Amino acid sequence: MPLPLSSAPRRRAACFLRRFALLRPPHITARLKPQAHRAHQKKVKTTASLPLIRRPARPMAPRKFFVGGNWKCNGTGDDVKKIVTVLNEAEVPSEDAVEVVVSPPFVFLQQATGLLRPDFAVAAQNCWVRKGGAFTGEISAEMLVNLQVPWVILGHSERRALLNESSDFVADKVAYALAQGLKVIACIGETLEQREAGTTMEVVAAQTKAIAEKISDWTNVVLTYEPVWAIGTGKVHDGLRKWLQANVGPAVAESTRIIYGGSVNGANCKELAAQPDLDGFLVGGASLKPEFVDIIKSATVKSASA
Ligand code: PEP
Repeated sequence: MPLPLSSAPRRRAACFLRRFALLRPPHITARLKPQAHRAHQKKVKTTASLPLIRRPARPMAPRKFFVGGNWKCNGTGDDVKKIVTVLNEAEVPSEDAVEVVVSPPFVFLQQATGLLRPDFAVAAQNCWVRKGGAFTGEISAEMLVNLQVPWVILGHSERRALLNESSDFVADKVAYALAQGLKVIACIGETLEQREAGTTMEVVAAQTKAIAEKISDWTNVVLTYEPVWAIGTGKVHDGLRKWLQANVGPAVAESTRIIYGGSVNGANCKELAAQPDLDGFLVGGASLKPEFVDIIKSATVKSASA
């Protein structure tokens, strides 16, 4: 059943598992020591001076847990059938507790849409930055809307790194897709070098700012933070929410779902789901396997603590 993964995700997963299995090896523990952490915070001008989140006057609906499955460039029509069968037969928390969106390759979008249970939705893995036309190989937002595909993943780190998609380009895509009526899983995240240089929050704030400058309504955006090495700290999610609070507004900070991606699997999902300010997952490798059902079920961790 599991589909072969390319070596990059496997490397990321191995790296994560090493770190996670050891539950904070010394170099990560050092990062989390109060002093080291305070020192790191000092560098992060973007959040250090931010005010506490002021809750909007009227209580807002709680953010619904979100689980996305990014199938990337994997599989065949038969694999789609197998994965969808597992999902369709799964007993998972109700739609009130969790929103599930799977993202097959373009060529399988219609097949997956036709087979998938009605309470799960599909996402495309990308779309063109503006109206279609003479852009060979691209898929426009209008085409996705025409196929009744409700969601699209934009700014995934693999596209930023391998196809040189800049933050401005990603932001233009986000704005255009939203304007066409698509909902967007917008991905941000820093490289390991940037992490090691202590610039995580600056990098993700700049990526978020590029988007914030081009959209005014965040209702249909799920912000996805996706590095491997921030596992378990919850710090970046908290920083992003504060960034939204200070730069976009309290209502958007309160209502926008900020999810996490990076080697999430059936074994670690519950512990991760318990992190404050983390509203769900974007799952790569494990979304091709039956354990994706366990990841969906981790939504109960949040509903239990609500
Ligand atoms: C991803 O790249 O979107 C992702 C989360 O992958 P994985 O879960 O395999 O780390």
